Amino acid sequence: MTRSPVGPARGEAVRVRSSRASADDGATVALDDALLSGLAPDGGLYLPDRVPPLPDDWDAADGIGDLAARTLAPWWGDEASEVAPLLRDALSFPVPLRPISDGTYLLELFHGPTLAFKDVGARVMARLVSRALARRGGRATVLVATSGDTGSAVADGFAGVANVRVALLYPRGLVSDVQERQLTASRPNVRPFAVEGDFDACQRLVKAAFRDRDLQEVGLTSANSINVGRLLPQATYYLWADALARRDHGVREPLRFVVPSGNLGNLTAGLLAHDAGLPVARFLAAHNANRYLPDVLAGRRDRDQVAPTVRTVSNAMDVGAPSNAERLWARYGDRLRDHVDALSIDEAATYARMWRTWREEGVQVCPHTAVGLEALVRWRAAGEIGPAIVLATAHPAKFPAAFARATGSAPEPAEALEALRDVPTTVEPLVANDAALKRALLDDAGWSRVRTERA
Ligand SMILES: *Cc1c(COP(=O)(O)O)cnc(C)c1O
Repeated sequence: MTRSPVGPARGEAVRVRSSRASADDGATVALDDALLSGLAPDGGLYLPDRVPPLPDDWDAADGIGDLAARTLAPWWGDEASEVAPLLRDALSFPVPLRPISDGTYLLELFHGPTLAFKDVGARVMARLVSRALARRGGRATVLVATSGDTGSAVADGFAGVANVRVALLYPRGLVSDVQERQLTASRPNVRPFAVEGDFDACQRLVKAAFRDRDLQEVGLTSANSINVGRLLPQATYYLWADALARRDHGVREPLRFVVPSGNLGNLTAGLLAHDAGLPVARFLAAHNANRYLPDVLAGRRDRDQVAPTVRTVSNAMDVGAPSNAERLWARYGDRLRDHVDALSIDEAATYARMWRTWREEGVQVCPHTAVGLEALVRWRAAGEIGPAIVLATAHPAKFPAAFARATGSAPEPAEALEALRDVPTTVEPLVANDAALKRALLDDAGWSRVRTERA
């Protein structure tokens, strides 16, 4: 992949520009501005103006938090030493690399508080937003559409953070019981809304709210993977996986990464890690029946041809119109094919892979991870051999019904989920209508009904 042009001297802060702006127009903004605004004013998604090369000693890090402090904090230039401790604090949970069979490893990204990889981005973003607000004054309302895991990770990451409120939109009836309990657990300054519609309807509501000038007074910002604050920290675990593979497993060659994909934020972050200098043999975007990228890369549809969302068991990847596609086309265009393959895995094959992984490897996986594992089996059959890392994106205990259907038994319980059974919940119904959301966001009484202090 072409490296970004050699940027300004080391030590200068990275700036970002809209995916809709041309590379030679000077319109860049500071990272903190992008963090607080989410979308660019022209409706585009922010991308780094340049990607700083990895420092020499990046792989000597002794944990993923330390790795983020070494590789991501420098993006803030002079303020790197202020950002580094926030990154260490946010990424204080283990991210183990687990070999499951010859040359195949699972990167377990689900040991954070809400047991899904979205904790990585959400916890970092919460701390960065809080810092940016403290420096500038003002308050923010984080508005997030979630297909399941994002919402609880964001709610958990932001709950009780000074000057921040969170409004969560999730598709009513389209998330699992466990996910719903995680989403609606009462948290300080967090309002969950159950929307009459699917995930794309939730995303459309969010986009409309951002275009609405009247809502500027509440300081709207997004925490979806469209926000750079979520996106950038996700690059860290690709580096971490590579460091662990070499250090603990003697891997010498560049790795293949299999990325269970929906909104394509995870894949975009991997490509940024590659741009920063991480050698990667190839990426495989593993999709369920929502097959936008597999179709586009195979020439079966145009880039701007999105499809309605299809409901699947790997529901956090049920995205018909992935927002990060805009980033991928803006940054890589046709070069994406040189680095990325994409496959779509159906429901039967997903369940079968959960079962076989449990029976043959003694490893329990969630449906999203199973989509990744099954895609890898097919990729290898088509000739892609060599060591590969499958990102294990959620804890299997978050999907007990799917696991039971696949294997006939219950997944091992996760303590963090068991503890949720007794906590109080809060939820408000919402019709999928721009005006209804606007009324709710501007309604101070609604906000004052939720707790403001950490218990
Ligand atoms: C969000 C999510 C994905 C997909 O990640 P994207 O960045 O949206 O492509 C995969 N698995 C799980 C468990 C998720 O929560």
